[in-house]
Amino acid sequence: MSVKSINPATDQVIKEYKEHTSKEVKEYISKSHLAYESWRKVSYSERALCLVKAAEILRKRKSDYAQLMASEMGKVLKDGESEIEKCAWVCEYYAEQGEEMLSDLHVESDATESLVSYQPLGVVLAVMPWNFPFWQVFRFLAPALMAGNGAVLKHASNVTGCALAIEDVITDAGFPKDLFKTLIINSDQVESIISNEHVQAVTLTGSTPAGKSVASIAGKHIKKSVLELGGSDPYIVLEDADIELAAKTCVTSRLINNGQSCIAAKRFIVVSSIKEEFEKQVVSNMKQYTFGDPFNDVDLGTMARKDLRDELHDQVVKSIEMGATLLMGGELKDGKGAYYAPTVLTDVKWGSPAYHEELFGPVASIIEASSEKEAISIANDSFFGLGAAVFTKNVERGKKIAREEIQSGSCFVNDFVKSDPRLPFGGIKGSGFGRELGPFGIKEFVNIKTVYIK
Ligand code: NAP
Repeated sequence: MSVKSINPATDQVIKEYKEHTSKEVKEYISKSHLAYESWRKVSYSERALCLVKAAEILRKRKSDYAQLMASEMGKVLKDGESEIEKCAWVCEYYAEQGEEMLSDLHVESDATESLVSYQPLGVVLAVMPWNFPFWQVFRFLAPALMAGNGAVLKHASNVTGCALAIEDVITDAGFPKDLFKTLIINSDQVESIISNEHVQAVTLTGSTPAGKSVASIAGKHIKKSVLELGGSDPYIVLEDADIELAAKTCVTSRLINNGQSCIAAKRFIVVSSIKEEFEKQVVSNMKQYTFGDPFNDVDLGTMARKDLRDELHDQVVKSIEMGATLLMGGELKDGKGAYYAPTVLTDVKWGSPAYHEELFGPVASIIEASSEKEAISIANDSFFGLGAAVFTKNVERGKKIAREEIQSGSCFVNDFVKSDPRLPFGGIKGSGFGRELGPFGIKEFVNIKTVYIK
């Protein structure tokens, strides 16, 4: 069995990788466990040095890794370079902050002394997606390693080159040999990995079906799990919004990574009185984006795979059949490459894919609401609960809606949702559970241990 990387701009196979056998996988896990046994005793300051070195290496190889992402999943070069910068940042952030985040918490009780200590769990399996092939891995890996864990990675099958590059970074940064390993496998090997005695937990970033499968396997084997799944983030635009800012921000967010971001703005919920003006400005902003070969100087590259592009187009066509109006884009071009033109749908109807499903590509869906109350109700009328945003010139009004009304793991006011090493990130409802980043992220894969001294 093999795993193939295919260039989505040319449809050419870049490289074919031999899959690791189940015997090899078992050996890698045992070795990672052995390495973890000594790593857990290494001081925080030594762990931090490795993370700082990893950041340095990432920055040095930024251009190579951007090219690798462009060829494996179609990301434009400038976005690839920013992604690597962000990986370096998360390494440095946990190098600086990790020790303090995991310092003992002293608690008054009947004991002479009682405290909470944060101990590493052991080897964690990470199942990761292709859309931010470096960032998704590092935002889990930097805190997990700082906390003293080991890790094995099952990356998406189309980005094996990136997965192996991450292993190189970790090795070259001086982390113990075998502590982290990229496993080249298909998802049918995931169950046996989760059930392995040395694997203590699993984190998955990916789609709902993958999350359901991994969470049920983890449950069966009583292993801790964190799920970062899909989203259909609602962006509410109220009648007192700065329409220019709202339209520009919504479009920027919708087109991040060619629309293939879990926290992209997906449903633009606009109150009736400003709908027409908002539509006009969304279309005008969308038209400014150029798209083409990710190695050229363009804003958007290709989508990551042709099958994903075709799936997106089906969702667009069905939504139009169910009453949505197409304002721009929406055509499928024959020929090479997984290209999809930026597309805007308006008057999206309840019951259609653009209303209920995640559209994982450059397609904006505008939904009309008669009032703030209705806008909130539409925003929450979703299986998902990842991110959200509200646009209003009345900051108190926006803050109240963000804090109290929207069902999501984060809600931004007058800006688009972005992940930041300092702030927790994750979802509720069908978008998963658990948090990454900030002080919450580093505590997902630790034993929160009570120590009581009489
Ligand atoms: P995907 O198809 O679910 O794949 C994600 C990872 O899961 C890949 O490594 C995949 O391996 C593996 N996988 C798929 N089915 C599996 C199964 N039944 N058991 C175990 N592993 C399985 O998702 P994707 O298309 O790569 O990524 C897009 C999705 O990820 C979107 O829904 C997006 O919103 C979500 N996402 C969420 C976040 C977040 O932080 N919440 C961030 C980024 C992306 P193969 O490649 O071998 O199939």
